[in-house]
Amino acid sequence: MVIEKEKTSLSSRAWIEINVENLIYNIKQIENIISKDTKIMAVVKANAYGHGMITISKILEEYGINDFAVATIEEGITLRKNGLKGNILILGYTDLSKIEDIIKYNLIQTIVDYEYAYKLSTLNLSKKVKVHIKINTGMNRLGESYKNIDSIKKIYKFKNLNILGIYTHLSTPDSLLKEDIKFTQNQINNFYTLINILKTEGYNVGKIHIQSSYGILNYSNLKCDYVRPGIIMYGVCSGNTRIKINLKPVLSLKAKVTSIKYIDKNESVSYGRKYITNKNIKIATVSIGYVDGIPRNLSLKNTKVLINNHYALIIGRICMDQLIIDVSNLNVKVGDVVTLIGDKYYIRANLIAKKAGTIPNELLSRLGNRLEYKIIFK
Ligand SMILES: *Cc1c(COP(=O)(O)O)cnc(C)c1O
Repeated sequence: MVIEKEKTSLSSRAWIEINVENLIYNIKQIENIISKDTKIMAVVKANAYGHGMITISKILEEYGINDFAVATIEEGITLRKNGLKGNILILGYTDLSKIEDIIKYNLIQTIVDYEYAYKLSTLNLSKKVKVHIKINTGMNRLGESYKNIDSIKKIYKFKNLNILGIYTHLSTPDSLLKEDIKFTQNQINNFYTLINILKTEGYNVGKIHIQSSYGILNYSNLKCDYVRPGIIMYGVCSGNTRIKINLKPVLSLKAKVTSIKYIDKNESVSYGRKYITNKNIKIATVSIGYVDGIPRNLSLKNTKVLINNHYALIIGRICMDQLIIDVSNLNVKVGDVVTLIGDKYYIRANLIAKKAGTIPNELLSRLGNRLEYKIIFK
C-alpha cells in the first residue's frame, strides 16, 4: 500500500504535521511493555485523535499492525474503502438497519448488551456477523454485565453471530489512588472469572482484551490477546502511571503570521477589549482560531505558542479564524510559522489541554476539519 505524501504549500494557512518516525517509535515503546503474545489493536477512532485516520492506519498497517478499532461503522467503512486490509472492530453501537454493511465491508461489531445480541439473532442476514462481546465490569457505559453469566452464555449460542472476541473497558486505569486501584483490580478479576467459567464450560470465548492506554501502563502484565492503545500511541500521556514510558508527540499544529502591528500603551487587542496594553508592544496576527480546534477558553490565560524558537503569548480573545500574539522583542515577519501544539514543554498537548480545562484526547480529536495535513517521514 502506498502512502501518499501530502504537501503543504507555502501558501498554507493552518496545518497539522504528522511525524511518522515518532508514531513508530511510540508503537515500539508499547510493544516493549506488553507480552510477546499480546498484539496491538490500534485505536484510530475520531480521525485518529485528530491525526488523520486514513494516513495513520496505513502507516501502522505498513509497520505490521493488523488490528484496528474505530468508534463508528462509518469510520470502519472509510478505512475499508481506502484499502485497509486488517481487522476493524467497531467499539460503539451500530444501528441494526446497517448490519448488512458490517458484513459487506468485513467489519467486526461490538455486542453492546444481551438485548442487542438478541435482536441481531432475529434478523435475516446474508451471512454471520463477526462480533466481539462487550462486558460491563463497572464502566456502566456499554456491555452486558459480567454478573449475567446465563445471558452471556445465550449470546454465544445465538444464530447470526460469529463471535471472535470478548472484552471489557476499565473506567479509572489512570488513577493510582488506593480505592481506584482496588476498583480496577475488581473489574479485571470479575472479567477473568467470567472468562474462566465460560472456558471451563467449553465455550470458545475468542480473543480477550481489556486495556486502553493507561491500562497498559498501570496494569501491564495482564494476559490478553490484545491491548487497545489510543492516546499513548500518539505520544501523549497525561495520567499518572506506574510504568514511565518515553513517548514522542506525533502531531504538531502550525499556522502563519499574517500581519504585524505596533500598538501603543492603553490600546486594546481583539474582541471584548479584555486585553489592554500597559506599554508599547509589537503584535502578530496568526491564521488559526477556535474553529480549527484551538479552544477559545485558552484566551487571556497566558497561553504560549512557539515562533522562531521563542515562546510568545496569545493576547486578547481567540477569534473564530485568527488569534493575536505578543511578539515584542522578537524578530518576526509575515509568513513566519507559529507552532501551537508540538514537542516543546509549554506547547505539549497535555499542558495545553489542562489549561483549556480538558484532556489531550478531547483537544486533539477536536482539531478542525479545516486544517491541512503534512506527513513528515524523515
Ligand atoms: C477510546 C477507547 C480506547 C482507547 O483509549 P485511550 O485511553 O486513548 O488509549 C480503548 N478502548 C475503548 C473501548 C475506547 O472507547
